[in-house]
Amino acid sequence: MDFKIDVDESKCLYCGGCAGVCPVDAMLLDEVRIVINEACIGCKLCIKFCPVGALSMEGEND
Ligand code: SF4
Ligand code: SF4
Repeated sequence: MDFKIDVDESKCLYCGGCAGVCPVDAMLLDEVRIVINEACIGCKLCIKFCPVGALSMEGEND
């Protein structure tokens, strides 16, 4: 894929909310960080949801 969801670990609270809204379960919380896997379809729901703005999309062309 030509985009990637980036997590700013200095902002993330590990609340798990983004993982809860992801329609394809592409986000997993491990012990220390959010991991986003290749199932991500780039819908950006997680970015809109995150209460602290810790998520962004890299590699966008539009
Ligand atoms: S952009 Fe959409 S599919 Fe990708 S991790 Fe966020 S909520 Fe899930
Ligand atoms: S919604 Fe934001 S603060 Fe919460 S776990 Fe996801 S990236 Fe971190």
